[in-house]
Amino acid sequence: MAAAEPPEVVRSAGPQDTERVGARLVRELHPGAIVLLCGDLGAGKTTLVRGAVRELGHPGRVTSPTFTLVNRYAGGRVPVSHLDLYRLGAAGLDEEDPALLEEELAGDRIVFVEWPEAAVAELGPVAVRVELRHAGGDAREIEIARTGGGRG
Ligand code: ADP
Ligand code: MG
Repeated sequence: MAAAEPPEVVRSAGPQDTERVGARLVRELHPGAIVLLCGDLGAGKTTLVRGAVRELGHPGRVTSPTFTLVNRYAGGRVPVSHLDLYRLGAAGLDEEDPALLEEELAGDRIVFVEWPEAAVAELGPVAVRVELRHAGGDAREIEIARTGGGRG
């Protein structure tokens, strides 16, 4: 297993910048990679995933899976699962929907997880942890920590 690198910190001036960060990140990932996305509501987690999903050539709109828990994208170069576990809150995944992660953990997908706290135990080794922070107006600070583990 490779050693963890120091985190990379990039500034984003607007949604298109954040999409570009997602596009650039996904080019280095392999199927089975799990990416955690942390940050307040509106920080740009879904925007970053949109850039990644488009970069892989998936057709159609990329929307927030807040109510569905997961959106799955097929038809691009690598299938993607985009989870948003916000509404699980403290209940935890095993209470809510134990079978939810079955497809994701088969390992042939790139998996993005917003609000991962409810499922850290079930998710397995994480390749990348992204933290997005408001930095005034449309500015965001995006910290990308590659763990050196998981299937990055
Ligand atoms: P989250 O998933 O973290 O709740 P979203 O990506 O759904 O956040 O929403 C981010 C909102 O903030 C969008 O309305 C987007 O247009 C806006 N926004 C403004 N500046 C940025 C930026 N630099 N990066 C990402 N989103 C931004
Ligand atoms: Mg979101």
